[in-house]
Amino acid sequence: MTLPEVPLFIDGQFGPGATGKRISVVNPATEEAVAMLAHAAPDDLDRALHSAARAFDQWRSTTAAHRHEILIRAAALIRDRQEEIATILTAENGKSLNEARGEVGFCADATDWYAEEAKRAYGRVIPARSTDVRQITLREPVGVALGFAAWNFPAGNVTLKIAAALAAGCTIIVKPSDETPGTAIAIARCFADAGVPAGALNVVHGVPSDVSEHLISSSIPKKVSLTGSTPVGKLLQRLASETMKRCTMELGGHAPVLVFEDADIPNAVERLVNAKFRNAGQVCTSPTRFYVARGIYEEFLAAFVDRTSRISVGNGAEPGIQMGPMITERRREAIAALVEDAVAKGAELRLGGRPVPGKGYFYTPTVLSDVPDSARLMTEEPFGPIAAFQPFDSFDEVIAKANALPYGLAAYVFSQSPGTIARAGAGLDAGVVGVNHTSVHEAETPFGGVNESGYGAESGIEGLDAYLRTKMLTEKFL
Ligand code: NAD
Repeated sequence: MTLPEVPLFIDGQFGPGATGKRISVVNPATEEAVAMLAHAAPDDLDRALHSAARAFDQWRSTTAAHRHEILIRAAALIRDRQEEIATILTAENGKSLNEARGEVGFCADATDWYAEEAKRAYGRVIPARSTDVRQITLREPVGVALGFAAWNFPAGNVTLKIAAALAAGCTIIVKPSDETPGTAIAIARCFADAGVPAGALNVVHGVPSDVSEHLISSSIPKKVSLTGSTPVGKLLQRLASETMKRCTMELGGHAPVLVFEDADIPNAVERLVNAKFRNAGQVCTSPTRFYVARGIYEEFLAAFVDRTSRISVGNGAEPGIQMGPMITERRREAIAALVEDAVAKGAELRLGGRPVPGKGYFYTPTVLSDVPDSARLMTEEPFGPIAAFQPFDSFDEVIAKANALPYGLAAYVFSQSPGTIARAGAGLDAGVVGVNHTSVHEAETPFGGVNESGYGAESGIEGLDAYLRTKMLTEKFL
């Protein structure tokens, strides 16, 4: 059987790389190759850089209304092709088709949002010190942008970068993960078919460190946006500093969950189980450290374990499946090692804790209680289907525990007391806080972390701002 080709997209053309090098893309649920991926050679990367620079000269001077029109068309195409894109996404990433459909729907919404925001890149008039001077600020696109994206939201992570950059008047080169490149190409086709000019959007694949080093060391791009791990964020930021590129860093997390004594337990359990095991826990905002008030600890745990035990695990392409596999065997081994370490250090295994035999990188939904702080799981981002529980006794103690890690992406609070909610909301060191629910990212809300979870935001008005710079113009009337 001939496998489908996943091409590069450079200067408006979908095609192979200069050397013809290809690698296979593997379905993590079946371990079978599903496509052949073209790798970019340095010459291809240079073509992408130059075409993005040429396109920028033209795209930057289009009107916001024109960019709006094209992006609205792209959003409509993403919606029209939802099923086709979701099918590729599930085959590459393993998440359930339902989750994949939802993700593609989010991409269409986000593209619509940025299309609208393109029209609102307002400058301002600043009152001058003299009546014959006018001072204004102009909001201009920063230039060619580079986007590097993780595999966990293969459509969402690339779309947020593409739509924001194009809305602002920037051009962009995107490097999706080699694990999920077909989804990125399917999204790129929507933008191309909507009328994005040649070179304004390029998609390249290849060895991550080679591609990022080559692209970032060029003086052509003026911006780097990464959705990825904290170690890679630090590396790319160092590379970007050589040419003083601005960065948006959407990095790893280790989300704490604070369940207070007065929480609505059925609501908290339902929402947290769904959030925890969504995409098999491979989500940067995935709830991970569950701190539960001692008085309701056992009751909450029992309800959580019961609800979790009913999650159906399997190939996301099959009907009724709720949780798919880990993205690679290496990630599954890492998860198993974290569980083993926690149990060896005294944690109690309440559910799961084992790989699923047979094909596919499946690992059972896992619940551990009384996990000591010394367990690696309590400090290292697991990025898998593991919930770690600890009881707490006081508000100050639980806030201190929640804030104890270098990460600061998402945090969750479950309580019915306005005072507790307000104090926890203010006290948590996190970029996004969900109170009594877990939906912390919409097209219209700013999303981003603090501390070693990165900086800058995507979505919301902040998402467009990240691709704009400010020029001050002061004018003397003659
Ligand atoms: P990763 O850091 O390994 O890779 C992210 C991207 O960077 C990929 O496209 C990769 O190809 C590219 N890359 C560029 N240079 C690289 C280099 N020198 N070495 C390795 N990769 C390089 O992350 P991942 O494993 O794809 O994704 C998981 C991580 O992403 C988790 O830490 C997760 O929390 C994080 N994440 C963050 C957010 C957020 O919005 N904060 C969202 C999703 C995922």
